[in-house]
Order: sequence, then C-alpha cells, then structure tokens
Amino acid sequence: MVRIIGGGLAGCEAAWQIASRGIAVELFEMRPVRATAVHKTDRLAELVCSNSFRGDKLDNAVGLLKEEMRSLGSIVMRCAEEARVPAGAALAVDRERFSQRLTDAMASHPRVTIRREEVTRIPDGSAAHPVIVATGPLTSDALSADIVRLVGGAHLYFYDAISPIVLAESIDRAKVFRQSRWDRSIGPAAETCGADDGRGDYLNCPLTREEYERFYEALIHAESATVHDFDKEKFFEGCLPIEVMAHRGADTLRFGPMKPVGLVDPRTGRTPYAVVQLRQDNLAADHFSLVGFQTQLKWSEQARVLRLIPGLEQAEFVRYGMVHRNTYVNGPTVLTETWQLRQHPFIFFAGQMSGVEGYVESAASGLLAGLNAAALVAGAATSAPPRSTAIGALAYYASHADPAHYVPSNITFGIMEPLDPGAGRVPRGKAERKLAMAERALAALDVWLRGRAA
Ligand SMILES: Cc1cc2nc3c(=O)[nH]c(=O)nc-3n(C[C@H](O)[C@H](O)[C@H](O)COP(=O)(O)OP(=O)(O)OC[C@H]3O[C@@H](n4cnc5c(N)ncnc54)[C@H](O)[C@@H]3O)c2cc1C
Repeated sequence: MVRIIGGGLAGCEAAWQIASRGIAVELFEMRPVRATAVHKTDRLAELVCSNSFRGDKLDNAVGLLKEEMRSLGSIVMRCAEEARVPAGAALAVDRERFSQRLTDAMASHPRVTIRREEVTRIPDGSAAHPVIVATGPLTSDALSADIVRLVGGAHLYFYDAISPIVLAESIDRAKVFRQSRWDRSIGPAAETCGADDGRGDYLNCPLTREEYERFYEALIHAESATVHDFDKEKFFEGCLPIEVMAHRGADTLRFGPMKPVGLVDPRTGRTPYAVVQLRQDNLAADHFSLVGFQTQLKWSEQARVLRLIPGLEQAEFVRYGMVHRNTYVNGPTVLTETWQLRQHPFIFFAGQMSGVEGYVESAASGLLAGLNAAALVAGAATSAPPRSTAIGALAYYASHADPAHYVPSNITFGIMEPLDPGAGRVPRGKAERKLAMAERALAALDVWLRGRAA
C-alpha cells in the first residue's frame, strides 16, 4: 500500500499510476477540513490560477511532455482532454469540469481510498509502504515544519502572482477582435462567443501608442498590496507580476504579455502597438482571463488600471490577481531523479513541492514518482527515463541542477540532452531541431518502457 499526501495534480496522477498496477493507495487531502489561501472548492486537482496547460504541439517542450504523459497512461491528460476548451495551439480546460473528472476518477477507483484530513507528520515508509509527499506550493504550515525535519534547512519560499478574470458580458466587443496569434486555432471559436466577431480562440484588446503609454503610467504608479516578507528577487521569472515587469522598462510589457506580434486588427488591417489577450476560462465562455497578467496590485487599483485597457472599460472582475506563497524543496540537494529522498528512499516528493514549476510538470513528476513507488512495492528497481525524454530531463534537472542557484523550472528543450551529431544529421533550423528532439524522445521513452516491462 502507498500513502500519498496531497490530492492535487501530482498526488492524483501518482495515485492513478499506482492503483492501475493493482496496488492500494491511501490519498490524503486536507480540503475541505483545512483550507488553503487560494483553493476555492473541495475538489481534487483544483486549478488555482490559469486554466491553461500551455502548448500542445511537439515543437514545444511542454507539448512533448504532454505527449509522453499520454503514452504513459496519464489520467491528468485524459481528464484535460475531456474538459478541453478552445485555446489556439494550447491545451486549456474548463477548470470545474477538469477537477470534477479527476475527483470522480479517484473516488470511483476500487484501489484508491480518499482520506479528507491534514497530515502533519510524514510517516517513515518502507519498501512495502512507500510515501509520496505531493502537497504543492501551499503545503500546510504543520507539514512544512515536518518537511524541514526531513530535509534539513533546504526548504525555500518565494512568491508568485495570479491573473485576474473578467465577466465575458462586460467586455466591449466593439473594441476587441477575436484572433489566435499567427492564426493558430484549434477550432471554430464562433460556437462559444458569438458568430459575428471573427475567428480564433482569443479576444484581443488592441492599444495605440497613446493608450499604451497611459496604461503604462497608471501601472507603474499604482499601489501594490502590502506583502509580508515580499522578496522580488525570488519571483519565478516565467510568472512575473505585470507591475514588476513594467518597472523593468517602458517596453518590457510590449515584448512580454502585451506583445502584438502575429496579430492583425481586422478593422485597421495593421498590427496594434500593444495587445492584451483574453482567454476563455470556462466551458460556458462567460469568464475570460487576462493572459500573463499576474499582479499584486491592490484590488481597487487593479480595477482602475485594467479598465484603461480598450474593451475593458466596464469590465467586471470575477477574480482579482493576487500574491501567494510557493513552497518547494531544493531538489538537487535532497532528491534523486526517481523523485526519492536521498536520505529516505521510501519517501518520494512530487509536484510543485519537489521543485518543478507548472501544472503539467507537477503532474509529470507525480506520474514518475507513482511508477517508482509501485516498483518499490513490487520489489522491482526504481528508474527514470533517459534525459533525451522531457519527463526524464525534468527529473534530472530537479535532482542535478546547481543547488546554490536552484529555481523551479518549467520543461524546456534547453534542459534536455542535445542532439548528438555523431548519431545522425542535426537539422539546422530551430523548429526542425525541436521536432527531431521530440521524435527521439518518444522513441527513447518507448524503449525505456519496454525495458521496465521486461
Ligand atoms: C496562486 C497560484 C497560482 C498558480 N498559477 C499557476 C498557473 O497559472 N499555471 C501553472 O501551471 N501553475 C500555477 N501554479 C502552480 C500550481 O500550483 C502548480 O502548477 C500545481 O497546482 C501543483 O500541483 P501539485 O499537485 O504539486 O499541488 P496542488 O495542486 O496545490 O495540490 C496539493 C494538494 O495538497 C493539499 N495539501 C496541502 N497540505 C496538506 C497536508 N498537510 N495534508 C493533506 N493535504 C495537504 C492541498 O490542499 C492541495 O490540494 C500556481 C500556484 C498558485 C499557488
């Protein structure tokens, strides 16, 4: 039997992998008995911020990671597919449908027992009864203290911020235009948002130079929420609040979340000076989130500043952006690439807590931790896929990066093993090289899987 602490993306994925191999799982989830600062429901695997699982094509590392997870029988990928909403080349989901599907999958599995309680002490574990800690960025305080007991002082904190969501009917459709960047759309978006406002999965708010400058000025002078212990040096670079980006320079946002490239306003026939993209956030299409607009401004300030964006003058906010704690261990100091603690091999860490970043990466680490916990119970060896695969590269990065400067990472082609010129022609073009790496990864994963089965 395997005990899993935390019923988030990583915990559910691990539970599924283990239970699918005929081994009993006890899955501990503290909600609703004890709440976190951010979760809103008692569902397992609640997505607390964006509804996007990011790119879904093989020329994109997270697209490759998803494809690998699918070939490993990922339940998170299956439920995401079932809850999919239009989002261009990305995989985005209806958050409620997604977490309900996953909750149902866990609750109905005969080998999974869900216990709604806070775990405050990590059990010792043994080969027959391994433990997986997957309590995420908002791990409860009592358990955080116990993790320090296990891993020593290598317990780190930093802060991220989340994007606001607006009510669809409060968006001025006369000012925004519907389009996916570079026209990459997964389907006829007209079904979800009115047939008369063009094609594409995103609503785009175009800004002229004057509008951008007015917005920028308001943003850099807006009042930030007071954050206890706030340390901007420790923001995750992929999730910077817009006001932090704005303070880096007048054009930083125009080259970041407000970049207009690949978008042409059909009314002017031109690329706008800057753009704010809105992404559908639920299947009913009545909520849209501001893409990449994480913020820690005071809520009243958010309303004031964001209503300067053309199309959002009357916006009603379903949720404001906010700041949260992110708790993770220093993976390279304490973990092996099989997600086991070096000093306590019967205890695994998975998910955001293990030092990865993002929904997909968290679920991927849960998947591998689950496979290896199941291997321990079955008396088999634990192992990780090679670094030529995305899932193996992520595990290697989290356990072997420089511990002195460790920051959680999204999956990128940069942390995967480069193509070997000795093993065949290396394509010159960037896109072709990525596709070649993806093809090599899927083949290598297949070999690894067959090796485990033998
Ligand atoms: C505010 C916020 C915004 C984020 N935005 C994004 C985003 O937009 N995109 C993205 O990819 N990632 C985002 N992240 C990161 C995101 O949390 C992770 O990608 C993902 O949810 C991590 O999955 P997980 O399974 O590790 O943790 P979670 O999904 O958080 O699951 C952990 C579970 O453990 C439970 N738990 C905690 N302590 C205990 C305990 N002591 N006993 C029992 N149960 C416990 C929690 O209630 C929770 O259900 C965000 C995180 C936060 C906090």
